[in-house]
Amino acid sequence: MYQGHPHSAQSNERLHAFEQACRKAGLKITHQRVEIFRELAFAQDHPSAETIHRRLKKKLPTISVDTVYRTLTTLEKHGLISKVQTVESQARFEVKDDHHHHLICDNCHEIIDFDWQVFDEYPLPNEISDWGKIKNKKVILHGLCRKCSQKVSS
Ligand SMILES: [Zn+2]
Ligand SMILES: [Zn+2]
Repeated sequence: MYQGHPHSAQSNERLHAFEQACRKAGLKITHQRVEIFRELAFAQDHPSAETIHRRLKKKLPTISVDTVYRTLTTLEKHGLISKVQTVESQARFEVKDDHHHHLICDNCHEIIDFDWQVFDEYPLPNEISDWGKIKNKKVILHGLCRKCSQKVSS
């Protein structure tokens, strides 16, 4: 899980890896794409296109939400970032990263990453064991976070 400081060497490495992946995918490396990716890579909160747009507007005053959204969709299609499955209407994104699971608050929509090694290593239930090849075993837990449940009960 990525917890580093925005300006750490790890982040530069990420940008470098991003540019390489773009070249490999035949995607042009534009200033906007790099800035959108950088914003997402530094974010810890799985932002939506709208949130990224709000954060980028200072740096790129002419960029539109639509451009941000289309860029994110393109990057996702090429496997450079991933979409977090939520029940919200606004898609939320994160940079493709180490394997982790998600906790989602249904009230404030905060998304938290967590590791669950016991689950990862646990064998599949018998009834689905010959279903086919599992590529991705991720869990999403929904509920009310502590902050929200305290608000509800007070
Ligand atoms: Zn909450
Ligand atoms: Zn995540």
